[in-house]
Amino acid sequence: MRGQSEQPLPSIPKADALYARQLEAINEVARIATLDLELRPLMQRITDALAQKFAWEFVALVTVEPRKGAFVCEAVTSTVPTEVHPGYSRPLGSGVVGTVAATEKPILLDDVRTDPGFVETMPGTKSELCVPVLHGKELVAILNLESTRLRAFHDQVSLLTTVADQIAGAIANARRFDEMRRRAQLMEMMSEVSRTALEAHDLSDLLERIVRYVHERFPVQRVSITLRDISAYAGENPSGEPPQISFPIRFRGEDFGRLEVCCTDENVLTPATQLAFETLTHQVAGAIHLAATKRDLEHANEHLARAIETLHQISTTDPLTGAANRRNFDTVLDVEWRRAARSRTPLSLIMIDIDAFKAYNDAYGHQAGDECLRRVAESLKSRFHRAGDLVTRYGGEEFAVLVAGVGSDHTRELGESLRASVEQMTIEHRTSPVSSVVTISVGIATMVPDGNDEAATLLKAADEALYAAKNAGRNRVVHMPASAQT
Ligand code: GH3
Ligand code: MG
Ligand code: MG
Repeated sequence: MRGQSEQPLPSIPKADALYARQLEAINEVARIATLDLELRPLMQRITDALAQKFAWEFVALVTVEPRKGAFVCEAVTSTVPTEVHPGYSRPLGSGVVGTVAATEKPILLDDVRTDPGFVETMPGTKSELCVPVLHGKELVAILNLESTRLRAFHDQVSLLTTVADQIAGAIANARRFDEMRRRAQLMEMMSEVSRTALEAHDLSDLLERIVRYVHERFPVQRVSITLRDISAYAGENPSGEPPQISFPIRFRGEDFGRLEVCCTDENVLTPATQLAFETLTHQVAGAIHLAATKRDLEHANEHLARAIETLHQISTTDPLTGAANRRNFDTVLDVEWRRAARSRTPLSLIMIDIDAFKAYNDAYGHQAGDECLRRVAESLKSRFHRAGDLVTRYGGEEFAVLVAGVGSDHTRELGESLRASVEQMTIEHRTSPVSSVVTISVGIATMVPDGNDEAATLLKAADEALYAAKNAGRNRVVHMPASAQT
């Protein structure tokens, strides 16, 4: 950007005119320095003003990034084509700017060909001046002038040093302001991501929210979270390419996962962005750990609940027939007896014994006997589904059915129907070509407990009824009167 060249007035001597212009430039730069600007716009105003005042072809301001081992162009004003642009970066120590960064002393090249370290970024450069911008002991920037003319800056060293002193404070302030703004952004991000984490209702939701947040806030291609010891994964990494940067997810000093970010644009992964990722990972680590622990606990609880259910099943069921076992029967009888006493409703007990089962075993073998027990149990269970009905394997080849809330006539019919259904069963045998018939004897007692009786009375009555059925010739139903019987 070439400024309008100001012609000195004829009445003013040439040296005085130059001096006036220098003063004007210093004044202008000082004025810009008072403006409340961010770093890059501030630097751009300065390079524009200098280029315009002195009609210099190339003016640049450069900052040093020691962590990256590089210097970065922040602002450039040039009337000649150049590869330098804001964001342009070269390793420290390279070229004249690099040397000034290292030595913090001005370098004037009246003829760049005399310096073997010179790096041409503007075609046709013949002379160069590079001045450090020092704020106290801190190198905050480097002012860089280039020209296609020889000795273009021969008399400008003290002017540029004055300008550098003039802008040092403003640049240091703008840098601090940038840093503060970055910190404020980090704080805002930390609170946002914490809020996001709090809204998640489980681990996978939490991981998805974090991945989505990173995608929305940073121009990255892929984000993924993997957790160690816990098979959790969020985000996609379809090509399986190695991630560019990985940030450990650490809780109480232990790494238990990684946040991986893949970003094709190198400029995005600046130290500031990396710090942002580190902060973010640190911020969510606790929430992830908590959610992962909670999920593990839930899994363990589900496992335990299944184990308890299985144990309960084992402890209350007869393994051969799947009917309730004796222990279960005793508990339920006690409960139903008291319920019937409270509600003054009938409770019936049907005792069933397979007839001549010893002979059955002898004829067909023990395994066939087992199969017969299963078939009889199935036949009984298929008829009783109401709450309070309980089919039990009471002993070897003996079953007991507890029936709540049914009157004695109906229970007798039920017993008869059970007897008939077993009699109609035909059982095939591998050991014998002849299929066998099984019969049962049934003894029933029905009572409405009156508060003085005990459940044992019902048991005893049903047992006696069964005994009577056996004595009467088997394959029959006997309904035995009991005290307080309906
Ligand atoms: P009754 O008509 O008087 O009831 O004669 P029963 O032969 O059925 O009676 P008993 O008490 O003499 O014999 C019962 C048989 O039941 C004897 C026993 O071997 C058989 N038994 C008991 N439990 C099982 C079992 O789990 N499997 C098999 N296969 N047989 C069993
Ligand atoms: Mg028996
Ligand atoms: Mg028997």
